[in-house]
Amino acid sequence: MIIGSGPAGYTAAIYASRANLAPVLIEGPQLGGQLTTTTEVENFPGYPDGVEPFTMMDDMRRQAERFGTQFVSGIVTKVDFSVHPKKVWVEDTDLYEADAVIIATGASAKYLGIESERTYRGRGVSACATCDGFFYRKKTVAVVGGGDTACEEANYLAGLCEKVYMIVRKPYLRASEIMQQRVLNNPKIEVLFEHNTLRLTGEGKVQGADLIYRKGAVSDQDGKSLEEIRHIDIDGFFLAIGHHPNTELFKDFLTRDAEGYIIVDGDSPRTNVPGVFAAGDCADPHYRQAIVAAGSGAKAAIEADKYLKNL
Ligand code: NDP
Repeated sequence: MIIGSGPAGYTAAIYASRANLAPVLIEGPQLGGQLTTTTEVENFPGYPDGVEPFTMMDDMRRQAERFGTQFVSGIVTKVDFSVHPKKVWVEDTDLYEADAVIIATGASAKYLGIESERTYRGRGVSACATCDGFFYRKKTVAVVGGGDTACEEANYLAGLCEKVYMIVRKPYLRASEIMQQRVLNNPKIEVLFEHNTLRLTGEGKVQGADLIYRKGAVSDQDGKSLEEIRHIDIDGFFLAIGHHPNTELFKDFLTRDAEGYIIVDGDSPRTNVPGVFAAGDCADPHYRQAIVAAGSGAKAAIEADKYLKNL
């Protein structure tokens, strides 16, 4: 059984079905995974002219189907990995049993939760600079967040864009010292400390952002508000405030790190439960790329095949 329909899940399905393992793939709440929240994929090998993400994911799905993968649409609501065969419930009612399970449930980018973020999603709002930065060449963008991801994304974008603002809610960066230095020494990056985003503005696409400077701060002398509303003109707005791995469901059975990423055995996809493998972003806090997830899906299927042969 494979749980998840992103690049990791579909690649695991292609490999598992070609190895005659009779995989069943549960598609989950977001068919095609996180990639389908972006507009165009230009960095997946094999598509020299770029590809629309739904087309790419549909290609992967059809490739898995061709070799006999069965698909179940629905959401996994419960698992029991303490028994053999392993039990997986879909929508609480349908029970499936599997000799091996590959978890490829991915991660979800955190968003601020402001309404205009949804309005402009795919039209200037992105949660992945590596995926979408190229569309903002020679333009002005903002990156939200003050951690390592935000610094990394700001530096990456500074290599492409005219100017990069970093919108940081605290008066300091949380990132590691070396990442901070790279950002602070980059003349194309301007860090806006103590700023929060109020709303995005623009006609049909992001053209600006209204920010609050020193939200909630009051003067010591007379108690007057020190807040100021400021506006910046931008073409792109990149969220880099962290990701949630989608692994809550497995917490009673699998070892996870403090952030919830599934811990695997070294460079392999093996989890602490024999016969349960993890692939893609649910076990990868670092790379978060479709091509990396696809590779790890292949590894998980190869390991599952070995496990099943030894059973
Ligand atoms: P972090 O949790 O480290 O940082 C999140 C950042 O987003 C913080 O600055 C936080 O602000 C800010 N933030 C969170 N919520 C909001 C909000 N609602 N509004 C505004 N700002 C917000 O996440 P990262 O993704 O940066 O990093 C995750 C882990 O991965 C870390 O351990 C990091 O070190 C690691 N990593 C390492 C890399 C490397 O070594 N090359 C690269 C990328 C990640 P605040 O500080 O105020 O809480």
